[in-house]
Amino acid sequence: MYDVIILGGGPGGLTAGIYSGRANLKTLLIEPNILGGQMASTTGVENYPGASQEDTGMSLAEKMADQARNFNVEVKYETAESLDLEGPVKKVKTDQAEYESKTVILAMGAQSRRLGVPGEEEFTGRGVSYCATCDGAFYQGGDIYVIGGGNSAVEEGLFLTHLAKKVYIVHRRDALRADKYLQDRALNNEKVEILWNTVPEEIKGDKTLESMVLRDTQTGELREVKKAEGQPMGIFFYVGQDPRTDLVEGLLDLNRGYIVTDEDMATSQPGVFAVGDIRDKKLRQIATAVGDGAIAANAALSYIDHL
Ligand code: NAP
Repeated sequence: MYDVIILGGGPGGLTAGIYSGRANLKTLLIEPNILGGQMASTTGVENYPGASQEDTGMSLAEKMADQARNFNVEVKYETAESLDLEGPVKKVKTDQAEYESKTVILAMGAQSRRLGVPGEEEFTGRGVSYCATCDGAFYQGGDIYVIGGGNSAVEEGLFLTHLAKKVYIVHRRDALRADKYLQDRALNNEKVEILWNTVPEEIKGDKTLESMVLRDTQTGELREVKKAEGQPMGIFFYVGQDPRTDLVEGLLDLNRGYIVTDEDMATSQPGVFAVGDIRDKKLRQIATAVGDGAIAANAALSYIDHL
């Protein structure tokens, strides 16, 4: 029996691990992919205190993971399939085994939203991507289209200017949602062109991506942008995130799909906490996920002390 099982190894889950491990709680962290979560696939991490210019999302993830392991957090690369969160003994069933714990900290984060444009799924991995750091290099010297106008679209679009001939940010409105400092950088970058009031309508190709049909949201006019001869063309979707709450639907109170917590990160089920992007909150950042993780581990300790 564990004291704490953490589901998800992003910055929120890893910090919860560091704090619960350091408090001598027997802690298991379950992660289906790589430690670091979305942070691991972001390029620069400029707004996390203490991160140096050399730090990438991946290097920070490695440091946080090392710190958690140093406090005896056990890590298993498994996929949670079902949860029993009622009563004093929580059960987590994964694709490999079943585990019991006094508390559970949910840190599964969020995943890139699919827009559902015709051709999007078909050309994913063959011109369409959701991760600039993973796939940007495939489009070196070509035209890259980034769909979306939030922090992710603009930040990753700016990163892609180092690889692309030109980066087009395709945004459905006439104003970006991204933070002002990112907007300024994009507007002042000669490799960036913003296609205002524009949305993708269809993605076309043969074996790989050849073109994209764009629609002007104000006039309805359609036009097709094509791959230039001898150059690659890439499309990166950054149209928001969806919380990974499938496992807890019907088990916990949710708001707009996100897990509702109190200020101790406690959910509607005693002994179950939620941290990071999966939680209903205003500011989704590494810094806030880390704060959530520390609070949740402390609250888990206090819950166990009162069992
Ligand atoms: P986001 O802030 O929700 O932005 C999504 C963007 O996609 C918006 O510009 C939205 O347009 C557009 N969009 C959504 N649905 C669309 C549709 N059906 N068709 C066309 N466009 C569509 O998502 P995000 O950029 O992934 O960021 C997620 C969270 O992480 C945010 O809280 C963000 O602040 C945070 N984040 C922070 C940083 C940082 O601080 N450095 C970096 C990355 C992410 P509208 O603007 O018209 O709604």
